Amino acid sequence: MTGLRERYLAELGVPLWQLRNAPTASAPPHVAGPSAAPPSANAGAAADDVWTDLAARVRACTKCTLHKTRTQTVFGVGRRDARLFVIGEAPGADEDRQGEPFVGRAGQLLNAMLRAIDLPRGEVYIANILKCRPPGNRDPQPEEATQCTPYLSQQIELVGPRVLLAVGRISAQWLLQTDTPIGRLRGRALSYGERSIPLVVTYHPAYLLRSPLAKATAWTDLCLVKDLLSRTP
Ligand code: SF4
Repeated sequence: MTGLRERYLAELGVPLWQLRNAPTASAPPHVAGPSAAPPSANAGAAADDVWTDLAARVRACTKCTLHKTRTQTVFGVGRRDARLFVIGEAPGADEDRQGEPFVGRAGQLLNAMLRAIDLPRGEVYIANILKCRPPGNRDPQPEEATQCTPYLSQQIELVGPRVLLAVGRISAQWLLQTDTPIGRLRGRALSYGERSIPLVVTYHPAYLLRSPLAKATAWTDLCLVKDLLSRTP
């Protein structure tokens, strides 16, 4: 497993440092995959109906002006019982075209980051705060995020993740309702919502593509996610 992890870290461009003659670091704590969790007795028709209804409401949504310029809504993807829920800010051009969050080069880097902590993309749930692309990839406006956040909140409620990973400044600041710089939000376990779900902040993969030196910092955030997951049932 260590070799696998090293390969993914190399893929991220994160250099591996090891003291000469030092013993090989032990593998990180095993993260129990969602498949190890007992299947929910309620994950049947009723839950499917709730998801179907939510997806239909998002598809038909006209609550903010972004519906006028979208190609399609970008609902979210992943396991409906995922232990980790990844939250970005809004669809970009690729996402708007494909209808899926975090595709393109930034999406590939996010996938590599997740694999580095033994969580393939298919094992997590991924969604954005906004379900429609802001024109020209501008920042989401507060009123747009206010209108759209109830959809995300319901997704989080339905999935019931153990840990949230806020990807990028805008996602982190909106979820935490703060204007604290991302550099002071990342690197520690915060909490979100009434149920105080542990929340970790890290850099957006699009930023990491522009600033590869920050990948090593992002790696420490991912290690924190892995540690938190290992400590939750
Ligand atoms: S961004 Fe959200 S609130 Fe605005 S139209 Fe799209 S789905 Fe509706």
